[in-house]
Amino acid sequence: MNPQPHRTHPLPVLLALLALASAGCATDEGEYFAPSAEAADEVGSGVVPTEPRIAPDGFRPDALPLEEGRNNVPSDSSVVLFRVDVPAHSHASFQLKYSGSPSGLVLGLERFDKDEPLFLGDTDSGPGIRVLAALPSAVDTTYWVTVASDDGISGATLTLSTKDFEDEARCTSDCRRLLQLPTPDDTRLEGYYSGETSVIRQQFGRRDLLMALRNAGRLVSSEGLAPFQVEDISNWNGTAPPGHASHRNGEDVDIELYADDGINVWRDHQFFCKSSSQRCRAGTVRNFDARATAIMLGGFFESRRVTIVFLDQQLINAVRAEVSDLVASGVLSEFAGDKLKSGTLTHFANHENHAHLRFRDSSSALVGEDELLLDGEAMESEGVYAP
Ligand SMILES: [Zn+2]
Repeated sequence: MNPQPHRTHPLPVLLALLALASAGCATDEGEYFAPSAEAADEVGSGVVPTEPRIAPDGFRPDALPLEEGRNNVPSDSSVVLFRVDVPAHSHASFQLKYSGSPSGLVLGLERFDKDEPLFLGDTDSGPGIRVLAALPSAVDTTYWVTVASDDGISGATLTLSTKDFEDEARCTSDCRRLLQLPTPDDTRLEGYYSGETSVIRQQFGRRDLLMALRNAGRLVSSEGLAPFQVEDISNWNGTAPPGHASHRNGEDVDIELYADDGINVWRDHQFFCKSSSQRCRAGTVRNFDARATAIMLGGFFESRRVTIVFLDQQLINAVRAEVSDLVASGVLSEFAGDKLKSGTLTHFANHENHAHLRFRDSSSALVGEDELLLDGEAMESEGVYAP
């Protein structure tokens, strides 16, 4: 977790992009549109689609076709729109590369929704690259990817890379492949989101981690809980984001906790307990929804691939007190319940406002999106986060 100032983009993307292009924008933060804490469940209708979400031919006729592989971004405009129809159960990654440091360069994502585009998110910071991903989980879906810059766009390329992606709890093949966390099509159904403190280029995880995360999201959604906020995983190239000693190769993810207001969003370190020396003092836990947090963590455990979870001991105790009821009522499996009670859930300092989950096995060689082999050496210690 690396909280930092942020900016949201609550307008439909084209309006926002046109405004950026005309008015200039000094934003330099690394996240895309995120629902505010209060509105964290407001992207999408919450209804599983049964008909393809493919836009008619000629819909938004200015959109260029986005082909698999590298596409040149025309340099004669300050806003360029691409269209791609993505098959269901496919992970589509969009990687914009450019040179120089164009001002206000924004990569945005929309999908077709009934008869209009629905803005899903954008990303606007960091040198050399912008990255987003989509994953239609139920039906073939039209997406639009927008590239906009105050300075105009020159010499940029947008690369589309599509991979099969089954939404199952357990991964059985290609499990260490580094993929970007998809921007949810519908946060109510998918049960997670990247919030105001999330940095999009730092949300690349192993396939098995992403599958587990999405399984946890579906579980919290089916239990009527708000989506949970995902923070750092790994950088787009598998390296550790700033402030972390681990979080390499997409093997670690930080997630926020549920509060008793029903919302899962970044909270400060004294929110869930009175803490000193980065740990909760006994008897001071407050504002904490242990049941909802147990369900979320249990959803990850169903993957059978979580090797450790760091959380403050006082919060662990509260989570464990919920396990028996959740197993008895069938919300969690006995396996997940046993894991929540086991040493896999363990205390680590500085985890009194978020949980850190690790997916690491003995051989950590990983194939990245550029077929880059990253060595899986050691993440021996959990980082102390930058303020
Ligand atoms: Zn962490």
